[in-house]
Amino acid sequence: MAHPDGGRGTRFQRAHTFEQAYAFVAGEVQFPSTTGQNITARHGTTNDGQTQTIVFHSERGRMADVCSQCWDFGNNCSGDRTGTRAGQYIRGLDEFMD
Ligand SMILES: [Zn+2]
Repeated sequence: MAHPDGGRGTRFQRAHTFEQAYAFVAGEVQFPSTTGQNITARHGTTNDGQTQTIVFHSERGRMADVCSQCWDFGNNCSGDRTGTRAGQYIRGLDEFMD
């Protein structure tokens, strides 16, 4: 399973759309996650190059990525059935954009 395959877990109301966030991230953006990590966001694509993603890195490396279909969810649509928890980065970026 890979993006775009819908999100996983709880659905949230975001202040901004994935498209707005993708435009905001152009280049590189640093912001705090809701869990207090310093996160760097960059553009990415899925392995097949078909889907645009935002990739979240911490000082520990690549943490998660998000596409337009899982932007509203707590867990992304990459990896296994439960996805990867990404809501703490998505919400952090969403709030940082204000
Ligand atoms: Zn996704």
